[in-house]
Amino acid sequence: MNAANVPQKFKPYTRQSIRQARQWQWLPPDQQEAVQVVSHVMPFRTNEYVLEHLIDWSNVPDDPIYRLVFPHRDMLPIDEYRQLRDLVMVKQDDAAIAALVHKIRMRMNPHPAGQMTHNVPRVNDHVLKGLQHKYKETVLFFPSSGQTCHAYCTFCFRWPQFVGMEDMKFDAKETDELVSYLKSHQEVTDVLITGGDPMIMNTRSLADFIEPLLAPELAHIQNIRIGTKSVAYWPQRFVTDRDSDDLLRLFEKVVASGKNMAIMGHYNHAVELRQDIAQQAVKRIVGTGATLRMQGPLIRHINEDPHSWAELWRTGVRLGAIPYYMFVERDTGPREYFQLPLARAHEIFQQAYQMVSGLARTVRGPSMSAFPGKVAIDGVVTINGEKLFALQFLQARNPDWVRKPFFAKYDPQATWLDHLKPAFGKDKFFFETETSETETSAHATQERKVIPIASARDCANHSNAA
Ligand code: SF4
Repeated sequence: MNAANVPQKFKPYTRQSIRQARQWQWLPPDQQEAVQVVSHVMPFRTNEYVLEHLIDWSNVPDDPIYRLVFPHRDMLPIDEYRQLRDLVMVKQDDAAIAALVHKIRMRMNPHPAGQMTHNVPRVNDHVLKGLQHKYKETVLFFPSSGQTCHAYCTFCFRWPQFVGMEDMKFDAKETDELVSYLKSHQEVTDVLITGGDPMIMNTRSLADFIEPLLAPELAHIQNIRIGTKSVAYWPQRFVTDRDSDDLLRLFEKVVASGKNMAIMGHYNHAVELRQDIAQQAVKRIVGTGATLRMQGPLIRHINEDPHSWAELWRTGVRLGAIPYYMFVERDTGPREYFQLPLARAHEIFQQAYQMVSGLARTVRGPSMSAFPGKVAIDGVVTINGEKLFALQFLQARNPDWVRKPFFAKYDPQATWLDHLKPAFGKDKFFFETETSETETSAHATQERKVIPIASARDCANHSNAA
């Protein structure tokens, strides 16, 4: 057994316990204060592996993984920070803290539009709260016991899942509703089990959710996906955890049933795959016959360097993983802190893409998981003297829109789809009003409606089908 394979006990830290971590004393007082204050608004959780192996403490606070998991004061506007700081550090008034925190969270767009209103399926007016069905072929399933993570990302778009906003939470206690929904939706080929992080569950619990999907009456389900960040935050889950071998047997069982077991691995930075244990995790996953795709959002302060993306994709390909998506950071949480202009996102993607061989060019992006669908920025072009963004849907609420090129006026400041204006003097993008052409498809008939991009945004990170 090499050193990396010595079983390590998972040890999380939260706002209440982070003082016990030896690294806490290395932080200057202003950083400690920011963690204590901002973590009242955003969920904060890290673990010993992240602290010991992923963060370079000589580079704090600029270290990318530190930024990824530790709240920073600039994640709140200065007035809000001061107000909250006063309540937390001086007055210690719990009721006033709770009221202010709630106000700030509601300002932060806790569920980018569409997730609570358009994506949740109903059967006879009964809301299936643990499911989302946005794209025809893919259903998302949120098992209640998978609604936490090995560490929390400061940019996370699923943050309401972790902060006790019960009315804004998706979760399902068992698979009965999922299975009966799938039986009556033969068009669905993919189920994405997501969170939080489903890999937080032990193997037996995970099997209780996965095995019912192998039933003969669900033969139309071809791909069982699991969205997870454990490949980066706790790769021990696949290598040294007590039931890690059982987990691999579960993957093999899915593969033996004839279905694809697809692990949607969320990676943010090359450092996450430099660790020996993380590399072993990839090899063990793909060794079962499962596939591992790599995806993550592009985030200011964390992964703006194209070299990091190129290294990540290259290493992944060498180990047997498949680069899949670079997402654009979305409209929720402390977005101002993390967002990058679309023009810059495109440059970073293009530079990274140019550095890797064809095998890593399976990656797509930069892609906005917006309300109408996943929109990729293909490039910046000039047509008839007009500078434009060339765009296309990689996935859409209406399948007829997929891979139809369209154009928007170039805007160097724009950070999201709803900042863009149609090119060539048009008032609306083609997808903002359904046309007779799109109304002919069966799915479009169900979904026939004006798509209001100005108020509607949606997002995804490792749960890429949302
Ligand atoms: S991005 Fe994923 S791993 Fe990170 S906190 Fe959100 S759900 Fe958890």
